[in-house]
Amino acid sequence: MSIQLFKAKYEVEECLEEIRECLEVGWTGMGFKTVKFEDAWKKYTRLPFAYYTNSSTIGLYMAVDILKEEYGWGNEDEIITSPITFVSSNHAILKSNMKPVFADIDETMCLDPKSVREHITDKTRAVMYVGLGGNIGHYYEIVKLCEEYGLKLILDAAHMAGTRYKGEIPGNEAEVVVYSFQAVKNLPTADSGMICFKKGEFDEIVRKKCWLGINKDTYARTTNSGNYKWRYDVEYIGDKGHGNSIMASIGLVQLKYLDRDNAYRRQLSKWYRDRLSQYPDRIKLVSIEEGCESACHLFQICVDKRDELIMALNAAEIYPGVHYANNINYRMYEYAKGTCPYAEYVSEHTVSLPMNLYLTYEDIQKICDEIIKFVI
Ligand SMILES: *Cc1c(COP(=O)(O)O)cnc(C)c1O
Repeated sequence: MSIQLFKAKYEVEECLEEIRECLEVGWTGMGFKTVKFEDAWKKYTRLPFAYYTNSSTIGLYMAVDILKEEYGWGNEDEIITSPITFVSSNHAILKSNMKPVFADIDETMCLDPKSVREHITDKTRAVMYVGLGGNIGHYYEIVKLCEEYGLKLILDAAHMAGTRYKGEIPGNEAEVVVYSFQAVKNLPTADSGMICFKKGEFDEIVRKKCWLGINKDTYARTTNSGNYKWRYDVEYIGDKGHGNSIMASIGLVQLKYLDRDNAYRRQLSKWYRDRLSQYPDRIKLVSIEEGCESACHLFQICVDKRDELIMALNAAEIYPGVHYANNINYRMYEYAKGTCPYAEYVSEHTVSLPMNLYLTYEDIQKICDEIIKFVI
């Protein structure tokens, strides 16, 4: 049997029961289960607001777009960000006509506070922080840096569903936190996400902007009968970004099992570490901060001859991945070439080992055997 990088595991019967309710009631759209899921997510994270979207990509875009407009940031103003992330994080900045300024990452795979500080200019408005692989990295140092320089903090928490630091879910420090519930993330639906603003006013704005800019309340307030539902106002040229009740049904069920599932991911991660940490000269592990209970979305290592290792693993029917190629290599970010040496190294040497809930102790041993055979 081949071993895949990702394979989502669902509580099938419970998910189907929850979806069945939508079908029987005749409501699969926004509202109903989406509201329940938002409430459940707020309770779980203790974040004050949560709006359910159809992806985290739209959430990240809305985060930058709304902060830019509400804080009066200009075109060409800068947001400091990571080159080692899914392009969503950085496209969100460009799409808002702002400038991604790349700082380097450190051995946690997240932004290096020292490099971030060096990239602050009088045009810097925010930091886009990605908790890569579910790790917290030096997030709290970045929080302090943002306070010191009056910068807003956007947390791309796509990998962080369930990550805790000293027992708490991080995020209250940030201006906005964006989660992904895409098909291979720790809380898989198929496609959806959650955007959690610190401020209620911004939560209200994102609800309109993700529904074409429609404000249904305007006329709802002026009439107490339901007859004028179609007489809504349109305040923005918005997007179609809201989530739906089918996805939320899956989310509601999977959320109940998120902590259990993440605990097993940490077990897998520990089995990997126990074996692979014995070869520090050949295999570089990601460093995990003291106090971080990672969601362990990824298990990454860095090795020489990464591409050859992937081929050797493929020959043994093990299929790892890479997170991520240096974004600076893509044409729209090329202006930053040469500015992030450690990210360049990681881009060429990192490999993400299989991390999914179907893996067993024996699978991990088999994967480690192959890796060790290759590197020694
Ligand atoms: C998956 C991912 C996203 C995008 O999530 P979608 O829900 O697929 O839009 C954004 N940032 C990071 C770091 C991701 O891994």
